[in-house]
Amino acid sequence: MFRYPDGAALNLLAIAYAFFGWGAGVWLMTRPEWALNELGVVLTANALVYSAYLIHECAHNTIFASTKANDRLAAALSWLNGACIATYAGLKEKHLRHHADRLDVVTFDYPSVLNAAPPWAKRLVLALEWAYVPAVDILLRGLVIATPFQYGTMRDRVRTVAILFIRAVFFRRPRLDLDQRRSALCCSLFALCQRDALHGRVPAHV
Ligand SMILES: [Zn+2]
Repeated sequence: MFRYPDGAALNLLAIAYAFFGWGAGVWLMTRPEWALNELGVVLTANALVYSAYLIHECAHNTIFASTKANDRLAAALSWLNGACIATYAGLKEKHLRHHADRLDVVTFDYPSVLNAAPPWAKRLVLALEWAYVPAVDILLRGLVIATPFQYGTMRDRVRTVAILFIRAVFFRRPRLDLDQRRSALCCSLFALCQRDALHGRVPAHV
């Protein structure tokens, strides 16, 4: 079942941590005690980073022996970290070309777009990035949502709307007070910063 039997236990542990760590972290962020909220931030953010790295391993077929099993796990994990908004097949293809062709196949040249944007917009993005708020990542996330409406087929558009709807209904935060909402926001930013630190500030694939 696993590609490397000697790594089965550790891979299982990492997979379980990604799913249960995320669930437990979100639950902790909804508790009234602020200390549990903070613990939830760290746990959720770290589990999200695990989910992203596991998707990367699945794209290289290093978790399970079969490609289908790796694809299924990656697709499930993509629901945790929001990568599901783009198709996993597209993400996998781009990533494998990143290795095979030694280039990042993206159709959006964000440095050029930012250079052409009004000076205030460029200054805002630079200021946010300086303050470790991942403005470029947020921009690219928006782009993933918008792209099917500009270039995609009707099927792509329906898929995007359906996924956004499902996430809004089933992944919505429980009723959070101000502190908990702040924790959720911190968690998202912390996860992005942690991933950026590990990646050396490489923007997300789109
Ligand atoms: Zn890779």
